[in-house]
Amino acid sequence: METKQLKEVFAKRFGEAAEALYASPGRVNLIGEHTDYNGGFVLPGAIDKGITLAVKANGTDTVRLFSVDYDEECSFGMNEADKPEKNWARYVFGVVREIVKRGKTVGGFDAAFYGDVPLGAGLSSSAALESAFAFALNDMFGLGVDRFELARIGQATEHNYVGVKCGIMDQFASVFGKKGNLIRLDCRSLEYEYVPFDPAPAGYRVVLIDSCVKHELVNNPYNRRRESCEAAAAAIRRRHPEVEFLRDATFDMLAEVKDEISAEDHDRAEFVIGEVQRLLDACHALVKGDYETVGHKMYETHDGLSRLYEVSCEELDFLNGCAKKYGVTGSRIMGGGFGGCTINLVPEARYEAFIDGTLADYKARFNILPKVYDVVVSDGARRVE
Ligand code: ADP
Ligand code: MG
Repeated sequence: METKQLKEVFAKRFGEAAEALYASPGRVNLIGEHTDYNGGFVLPGAIDKGITLAVKANGTDTVRLFSVDYDEECSFGMNEADKPEKNWARYVFGVVREIVKRGKTVGGFDAAFYGDVPLGAGLSSSAALESAFAFALNDMFGLGVDRFELARIGQATEHNYVGVKCGIMDQFASVFGKKGNLIRLDCRSLEYEYVPFDPAPAGYRVVLIDSCVKHELVNNPYNRRRESCEAAAAAIRRRHPEVEFLRDATFDMLAEVKDEISAEDHDRAEFVIGEVQRLLDACHALVKGDYETVGHKMYETHDGLSRLYEVSCEELDFLNGCAKKYGVTGSRIMGGGFGGCTINLVPEARYEAFIDGTLADYKARFNILPKVYDVVVSDGARRVE
């Protein structure tokens, strides 16, 4: 859909013209997986897919929403008791509530919106939705909330109105995204720095391959990973009190406690310590425009996620194998694992062969046609018109 059509939809639905249009994107994370809860870094970037909304204050204390993609309407008041039934509307309700909880006054409004972030594929369509509305309401009602707090509002929406206990990365990337840059975010201090990322002129593309599987998880493997990391960090801390998280640890420190922790905990910690370093190495390489080194690091990350952290699966390892087979520069699992997408840094000249070959190979092996999402690192939350 184009913005022109969105304006038409708005006018038809609400009987008058929209006041303004806003947009906020989904995100990718180039490298830095399972590092957030270890106090380490992540390296996300906003993408050229997001939520676009048309909005106008309506002078009441009611919100009226229209989701173009679901072809559904929903209205609600702004008190805690007004929580809507529809899942998609809860993201907007949560944003409104979190703003109100911060002592700001939001009036009623009408809004129509659509999106092109694939849902549930690991590109954070939900953060795009939250950030688009948080940014729009802040701007429209002149609330004076800074960008950082807008990201917090989105995160709190997930926690309090959706029931997802996520970190800050997704909303942060959606709000702070900048064309031609990734964001190196320190998950402990929340300090951030832009890192140049403009692969196209250097002859590379970023493409996600969606395995289209999501394996049922038993015994909450994510919690077990966290416990392993905490156990390893605690063992190291007994000798090195300055180690708060694994982010602060070195391979030498890990070697010292080898006999004091389980082999499993050791493997998990080895991955995390390596991953923190790989991310920093990748950032140095990006500053020099050295995409080949970045690609090596991505393959190393995949290998670690598969062998040491054990969050891969047959399908993701197969996709990683395809990337190698077709000459892709870097490829790895993006997100928690056990399904979802791989993120690939692909030389322009290999792109077609990689996509065609991978689709055919994967289909032959698993009888599923993977989905392909091309992404370009782009600007974050903004007013469009
Ligand atoms: P993701 O990994 O994409 O963030 P989530 O499950 O966290 O997956 O969020 C997906 C949910 O966000 C959808 O089920 C829907 O409720 C809401 N959502 C995302 N994009 C849209 C959209 N374009 N229109 C309506 N709702 C959307
Ligand atoms: Mg989400």
